Amino acid sequence: MKERLDRINKRIADAAIGCGRIPETVRLVVVSKTIDADRVAEAIDAGAAILGENYIQEARDKFTTLYGRPVQWHFIGHLQSNKAKYAVRMFDLIHSVESLKLARALDKEARKNGKVQDILIQVNISREETKSGVAETGAVELIVQISGLENVRVKGLMTMPPFFDAPEQARPFFRQLARLRDRIVERSIPRVSMQELSMGMTGDFEVAIQEGATLVRIGTAIFGTRP
Ligand SMILES: *Cc1c(COP(=O)(O)O)cnc(C)c1O
Repeated sequence: MKERLDRINKRIADAAIGCGRIPETVRLVVVSKTIDADRVAEAIDAGAAILGENYIQEARDKFTTLYGRPVQWHFIGHLQSNKAKYAVRMFDLIHSVESLKLARALDKEARKNGKVQDILIQVNISREETKSGVAETGAVELIVQISGLENVRVKGLMTMPPFFDAPEQARPFFRQLARLRDRIVERSIPRVSMQELSMGMTGDFEVAIQEGATLVRIGTAIFGTRP
């Protein structure tokens, strides 16, 4: 586990340095969906600082088992508004907000918990029907609307390009997300920061880093093929 994690961290650092970035500006989200708590604990012991979970019920079980461990929890899966309560209790950052309805539900729960919930807006850059995320054309308007909610704070954007065998094919999608980020920065929307770009997985994270990723979400390269 430690070896795999060290190897990935080395590849992340090399990719950053290779394009003139400071390695610390790219953080690894260790994607632990379907991985049991024992192995996730091993990953934490081996140095995983951020976990990424996709399913609320599964995350609740692991969160309880691993409570108190020195790790951040990020939610990267599709989130239903009726699960907002659990999400707000567990997660430091929710990568997958794609509607005003969901943002409102998170805002309400965060207020109850005396918390300001950090979120990213998931953008469906590739416009695949099967993919979650707001359409690029609707992203700015959604962010303006969400910026009015006091207990959520937009920290950036997330995307998932189509699956390709060759990582280079994902580059245009990463680049398009970075351009959208730039356009949003130019608008200077109050309370909205664009410091995070969550993009890149096992097969394409180096390309994502070259295009500006600040959070890469990696599972398979660390835990092996998921059960
Ligand atoms: C599963 C998943 C990942 C990790 O994918 P790997 O190819 O195993 O690295 C990243 N992001 C999201 C949203 C996922 O669902």
